Amino acid sequence: MTVRQNIAIFLPSVVLSFITNHSTKMAQALENVMWQAEFKLYLYPEDPDAPVENAGLKSTLADCKFIGPLIEKNRYQAGEQFLSLLCFMGCSPNIELEPQNDRPYCYIEIPESSAEKRFIAGRNTRKLQCPGCKQTVNNAKALINDAIENKVDFFECPECNQRIDLETINWRKSAFIAKSWIAVGNIYEAEAIPDDKLLGQLELATGNPWKFAYIREEPTAS
Ligand SMILES: [Zn+2]
Repeated sequence: MTVRQNIAIFLPSVVLSFITNHSTKMAQALENVMWQAEFKLYLYPEDPDAPVENAGLKSTLADCKFIGPLIEKNRYQAGEQFLSLLCFMGCSPNIELEPQNDRPYCYIEIPESSAEKRFIAGRNTRKLQCPGCKQTVNNAKALINDAIENKVDFFECPECNQRIDLETINWRKSAFIAKSWIAVGNIYEAEAIPDDKLLGQLELATGNPWKFAYIREEPTAS
């Protein structure tokens, strides 16, 4: 076999494996586009210790048509009343409600309640200023996670030892602590606000007032 024939046999298999790898990566990337929304609107009960019964929550949201068909485990397509229960700011919101293969769209995720409280924060979470010394608490996220893990509801400022109670912190809709929540994927900060009707339904279903926050998720390692 000549050198030229060798190259002719070798090249197509390289090209083929490149194409195969490339299309697998493309498919994975599309799956990520569908499900890994960077910007999310979260709804959560005001009382972080309040137990939430997920089945009841799901049936309430289905009854008021906020959620539509189940697409995948705990993930739902927007229901018929989605746009009347979430008030979009601006005159023509650029959102997709139908599942898309190649671009982000709004979906609703209702994860199982977590046994322990969790601090949900993101890249947009406001800096925390100590009420005592007025310094920025640089490692606030770690201090709060440690406090939750140790089942205490406060931590001390590393600069001045001022006690900071978790429930007194005003994150201005950029973080929260809860055991249960609902996330709406692909909603930018302040792009949409839950209507009182929706918050009322959630309160009725759980016996607790609900609040909301906008989280820009931390980049995930890939
Ligand atoms: Zn301080």
